[in-house]
Order: sequence, then structure tokens, then C-alpha cells
Amino acid sequence: MSKLIIANWKMNGSVEQIERDVSIYAKCIYTNNPSVILALPNIYLYIASQIKNKLGAKFSLAAQDVSEFINYGAYTGEISATMLKELGTKYLIIGHSERRAYLNETEDSLVNKIDNALNEKITPVFCIGESKSIRENGKYINFLDNQLRILLQVKSSFDKLVIAYEPIWAIGTGVVPNGEQICEVLKLIKAFVQNYLPHAKITALYGGSVSGVNAYEILNLPEVDGVLVGGASLKPDDFISICTY
Ligand code: PEP
Repeated sequence: MSKLIIANWKMNGSVEQIERDVSIYAKCIYTNNPSVILALPNIYLYIASQIKNKLGAKFSLAAQDVSEFINYGAYTGEISATMLKELGTKYLIIGHSERRAYLNETEDSLVNKIDNALNEKITPVFCIGESKSIRENGKYINFLDNQLRILLQVKSSFDKLVIAYEPIWAIGTGVVPNGEQICEVLKLIKAFVQNYLPHAKITALYGGSVSGVNAYEILNLPEVDGVLVGGASLKPDDFISICTY
């Protein structure tokens, strides 16, 4: 099976860039694949879904967040899983460390967001990852295990689940953990899901400073089922070279 490659554009892009890049990805054999997922700002998600439908493209679309409220209602500024589903959104990034840090996402809101995604049959991409100080004081396994335990509060049942290990110290820094460090955490994730959510099909990703230069090595590590790519996903040449693993 193909590995999942998720492009997290974060709060970047323009209408011009979306129209250009999405057309490139629709025509490229390495990216026109359901396992290549573009996680775009919501407003560009709409444009991308239109182009995707027009070109009959096969890559998948993801949103970078979702409302913790359900369906429709008086929640000014919010976008629900129901609305994202209508645009053809297949995956939803939930709990990215930037949102946990800058938007103060609480455990309860993460649980609601995951439930909302599952209710719409959108696959959650749940992000976990420790800070540099937690890594250095050696308490990261306990910390990551606690982050995973949030999943046990979700009411809906998991069919598919993607979990991305994104150490905060590797995001946007150019520093990448070694293969042993990545595999140690992805093994922990898989063991956790096997123990506590045995019916879920788990896909475990690594994210943090993945580039055209290091992607081949990372994607060929035994435990790695795919990668979540931030900065390098904004440049089509780099992103395509990641997808050629
Ligand atoms: C991310 O923030 O999801 C990420 C992986 O960023 P970068 O690739 O830029 O480190």
C-alpha cells in the first residue's frame, strides 16, 4: 500500500498559488494519488475541490482543523465537519502543536473534534509530539502516552485512524530525530492502538522538517507509514520529490 504524504500548508497560499499547484499535482503521476493529501486553508479547500472535480484528479483533500461544534448553528466563524465533508474532505488534522499552543486547544475540544470528524466519516489525523525540554528530561514516553489517552475519551468508534508523531523541536527547525528515535515512538503509537482501540486501522506518520533531501530515508524506515510535511509542501518541486520515495 502507498504511504500517506500530507501537505500541511498552514496559513499560507493565495488563489493564484492554489490554482497553479493543484493543477500541477493533478497532472503529476507521483502526486495524483489518493495517498497524497493536501491540507489547505479552508477557503482554498473550496477552490481545490472545484479544480479537482473538474480535472477528475485523484489526490485527497484535508482540512487543518474543524469546529468542536456539530453540524450547523449559531457559532460565528466556525466551520463544521459537515461543511468540510461537503467539499470532499477525506482527512482532518486535529491537535497540531501550533493550535494547541496558540489557540489553547483543550483536551475536551480535541475529543469533540475527533468525534465530529468520525461522525462524518472523515479520517482524523491526530497529532502528538513533545517539546525539546520534555525530550531532554527523558519523560517523553509518558508525555506521549498521555496525549494518546485523549483518544480513549472519543465516543464514536474508530474505523481508520492516522496518528502523526511531530516532535515540536523538529517542526520548522531543520532538526530531524534519527531513525531509532522515530521508530521508537511510532512503535509506541501502534502498540497503544492495538491495546486500546483494536478495531482501528492505524496509520502512523512522522512529521517535522521533512524535505526532498531526507524524505527517502524517513519513508523507508520500517515503522513509518507516511509523513506530514509543512514548509517543504509549499514548493511543488520539493513536494513532488518527497512523493517519489
Ligand atoms: C508541521 O508543522 O506539521 C510540519 C511538519 O512542519 P515542517 O515540515 O515545516 O517542520
